[in-house]
This record gives sequence, structure tokens and C-alpha cells, in this order.
Amino acid sequence: MSIMLNGIGVSRGIGIGNVYVLYREQPEVQEYLITEDDVESEVQRYIRAKLSALTELSAIKKRIDSDTPDEILAFIDTHLLMIDDPVLNTGVINHIKQLRNAEWALQIQCDRLISVFDNMQDEYLRTRQDDIYHVVRSIQLCLGDENPVHQLGDSLKGKIIVADDLTPADTLLMKHQKIAGFITEYGGPLSHTAILARSLGIPALVGVHKARQLINANETVIIDGKRGMLIISPDNKSLKHFKGLRRQEQKKKEDLKRLVNQPAITKDQHHITLHGNIDRHEDVRSLRKVEETGVGLYRTEMMFISAKTPPDEEQQYQEYRKIVKALKGNPLTIRTLDLGADKEMKDTQQHGPLAHNPAMGLRAIRRCLKHPELFLMQLRAILRASAFGPIRMMIPMLTNHSEIDQILVLIKQAKAELDLKKQAYDDNIPLGAMIEVPAAALAAETFAERLDFLSIGTNDLIQYTLALDRIDDEVSYLYDPLHPSVLRLIDMTLKAGRNAGIPVSMCGEMASDANYTRLLLGLGLRYFSVPATVLLEIKSIIIEANISKLEDETRQLLKLHHHADISLAVERINKNQHSAPLKLHA
Ligand code: PEP
Ligand code: MG
Repeated sequence: MSIMLNGIGVSRGIGIGNVYVLYREQPEVQEYLITEDDVESEVQRYIRAKLSALTELSAIKKRIDSDTPDEILAFIDTHLLMIDDPVLNTGVINHIKQLRNAEWALQIQCDRLISVFDNMQDEYLRTRQDDIYHVVRSIQLCLGDENPVHQLGDSLKGKIIVADDLTPADTLLMKHQKIAGFITEYGGPLSHTAILARSLGIPALVGVHKARQLINANETVIIDGKRGMLIISPDNKSLKHFKGLRRQEQKKKEDLKRLVNQPAITKDQHHITLHGNIDRHEDVRSLRKVEETGVGLYRTEMMFISAKTPPDEEQQYQEYRKIVKALKGNPLTIRTLDLGADKEMKDTQQHGPLAHNPAMGLRAIRRCLKHPELFLMQLRAILRASAFGPIRMMIPMLTNHSEIDQILVLIKQAKAELDLKKQAYDDNIPLGAMIEVPAAALAAETFAERLDFLSIGTNDLIQYTLALDRIDDEVSYLYDPLHPSVLRLIDMTLKAGRNAGIPVSMCGEMASDANYTRLLLGLGLRYFSVPATVLLEIKSIIIEANISKLEDETRQLLKLHHHADISLAVERINKNQHSAPLKLHA
């Protein structure tokens, strides 16, 4: 029998395939031999996992209520001691030195300790086996965090993945493994995993609660990312229908190819710039297939979160240089590290304190200014690459002028360090910032006086303006790019750019949604930065647009307050029904 479920469609497209259910909480113990050269890094990996298990358990201990019974506190204390127990840890390290991978080494040591307790006469001591088992499992989970998806190899090809949640790094890996789509139980439409799914063209649904209970492994599933629904065990009629829809989508994509490398000029002769959003150097190839253009947003943190160890200056420099050279004279906008919230490096995931509200915490430029050595390393890498083509530096989550002061000092320092080594760079490298928090939009006028360009990050701007956590599916119903406050902040930012004579682009998801293209043109947006997957669709709307008409209509729309009125007005703009006057909601 077919079952239909709803979720939040985060990436358009139809995915059809058999299900692979991902259970992270039961990592399978992989057994393989390592080489002599890998021993040191494997030991370090084990130590990191052990520290991570300690940090997690300590954090749990800190959070539990003061009236928690002493036995439970004692139980946690025992586990904390056991995680750090020298017999356990030296045993594991010795097994690693015998060229076993960390998971296997841990399992062998666990079995040994359990057998020692097994032979004990004392009933109480025998029960301590359970403690060993739990402690070992907690370390195994942290080791497993390296990436359960990674270990699946090619077995995911053509599958629909059903998981509790996925990290952006998982998503990147799964794309590589050619999955047909994914469904997660948690996550909002603006999570970085969702954004990645969209830009990688993976059909995806998030927020499908209890998906792993409702969907069985190997069942056939259809995902309709546009409508936010899925069908489990579809009958032949549904399968035929959705395969037909998938073909239509494919055909639409083919039709749009006629716009490849055509200029984006509106009917009334306004030239619009269309740039691409990229996450990795591989994305440049997909971008150049649809347009030989520049990059308006390169999310550099993706390189950090998908790597086992954070890339150093040389690795970053090589990556940036490779991209700018591949763009053949088109500009590359490198967004400096936007780590934090749902984008964490493996190391910080394991050691960092758990912020109560990470989206409001030490994220993006705040994190970089707190760790100037990390920021300087990236600045030097960007500057060095700027000797090979036009690069612009873009700061995420800028909030105040003192951040600009500090950034300018650090750029100066990075340049001085390169001068000492006689390394070349573009001394006039443009510096811009993302407008992502309401404070920045309200102060855009003053930022525009000090910066070379601005770029509106609507994903965060909407998150912070409407106070909704972008990764929490419980509040995703509040996500509303048409909220009057959001529209006003966008309008203010665009005006600030015009007044200061600097370009303002938009690189958030709103720019990639064809429903809003005409509205944004009417508001005065002339620079769009979007994933390659939607670039031609957005262009198809631009070349049919008449900006002077849209400006009139948008001016009217900005007077509206109610969501229903605004979306109706947008619908009218999209349908080109200009004749009827806009009515205000009663
Ligand atoms: C944004 O916030 O709109 C944006 C483009 O940045 P990110 O989605 O990477 O936070
Ligand atoms: Mg952002």
C-alpha cells in the first residue's frame, strides 16, 4: 500500500529510488589495517574522540538539575573516570601501534576488559561490564562522527537516504556518491544542508518527523521536493506520473540551455549581473557550463568542515588560485570563514563548549576576530591568490564598525607579512561585507561609505529579523522573505549602495527563487548571485522583465503590511497583471 507524507521541500526536483536508512547512533565497527605512517594520526584521532566523549559527558553533567539523585551523578562521574582510564587508553593505543584502525583497536580492548570482568565472582563488579560497554560506545560514536556516510563507499548510488539529520559535509559526500535524494527528520529549509542540496541539485525533504520509523530500508520512495511530499511504495500509476514529471523537468532544463552565455538584459535595456554561488572548486565547472561568469559567493568554510584537518595557508592558497584561474578573468568573491552554528569543523565539534544559541554566538567574522591567527592565515591565502586574477574579499555577519576597524588592521598585517616574504598580491583588493543582521541593514548607509561592495545574505537576514532558527523545522513556518520588515531592510540596503555608488548584490536563497526575481528587480537589485542549477531560470525571467513597470508596482507593494496582500501582489507582478489596483487587507 502506498503512503503519502509531507515534509519541507528544500530542493526542487523529483527523486525516485530505494531507501537507505542511516542510523548514526549505531556505528558499525570497521576493521582495517593502517600503515606505519598512519599510526600517529590514528592515535591522535582516537585521542580526539576520547576527549570529545569526555566533553560531551561533562556538558551533560553540567546541565542536569541540581536535585538529580546522587547515584546518577556518581554514575556520570564513574563514566568520566572510565573514559580517561589509562588501562583502556594505553590498551587501545597499543593495538593501534599494531597497525589496527582506532575503531578496531577500541573494540579489541573493550572485549578484553569485558572478559576480565566476566570472570569475576563479585556480582556487582560483573555488572560494571555495562559501564565499559557504554563508555566504549560513547567513544565509538565520536570516532564514527568522522563520517558514517564516508564509510559507505559506492553503496549509496541511486539511493534515497533517510536519516535523522545530515551535516553539510555528509551532503557533499553523498552527492559524490550519486544519491537520488534524501529525507531527514529534522532541519529547516535554510539549513546549510538544505542550501547545499539545492545547489547540488539533490531532491530533498527535511522535517519529515519519524521518517525512519515510517520508511523501511529498500522500500521504493518518490520525493517531490517542489511540493514537499513523498510517497512510500508508490503504485505503478504514481511511478509513471512522477517519472513523467521528472522528464518534463529535464526538458525544461534542456530548453533553458538556449540562454547559456546570453547577456541578462531586461526588455528596457537594463544590464543585470548574474554571478554564481559555489561551495567547492568543483562547482566552477558546473557554473561555467551555464555561464562564463564570476562568483558572487564562495563559501570557504565548506573546505574546512569537509576536511579531516583544517587546511593550512598553502592548501587554501592553492584552492583559491585554482578557482580564480578557472574563472578566466571573471571576479571571484571569497567569503571569509563563516564557521559556527550549523557549520562546524570536526575539531570544534569535538572540543568546543556547547553554546546555548550558536547562531547568535561566536560565528563568522566574530569567530575570525577571536582567532586572528586563523583569520590571518586565510587573509594571506586570499591575498596571494589575488595575484592570479580579480578577487574580492567578503566578510560574513558584519555587525558594527569596530569589526571593520579590526579587519582593516589585520589585512594590513597580512599584507606586511607577505611583503616580508616578497609574495605578490593585489594591493587594491576590494573589501565588501554581507548584510545578514538587521543592525547591518539599518547601518548599511555608513558601511557603504567604508566598503567597496555589499551583498545581502537573506538566509541569515530573515533568520535574525524574524527571530527564527534557520535549522529548526518547528519554526520554519515563520520563514517569510515577503515579511514587510525583511523587504524594508532589503530596500534600505539597496538604497544605501545606490547613494554611496557601490554595487549591492544578493547571494541569499531569495535571489535564487524565481518567484521573487521580478520583485527584487523592482526593488533595484542589479546583481544576483545564485547556484548554477537555477541561474538560467532566473535569467529567463530577467530578459522578459520591464524594470520601470516593476519599480512602480514594487513601490506600491512596499506600502502593504499583511502577508496575504504582499503575496497576492507578488503573484500579480509575476503574472504581469498590472491593470487591477492593489487593495489593502481589511
Ligand atoms: C545568507 O545568509 O544568505 C548567506 C548567503 O550565507 P549562508 O547561507 O552561507 O549563511
Ligand atoms: Mg549567512
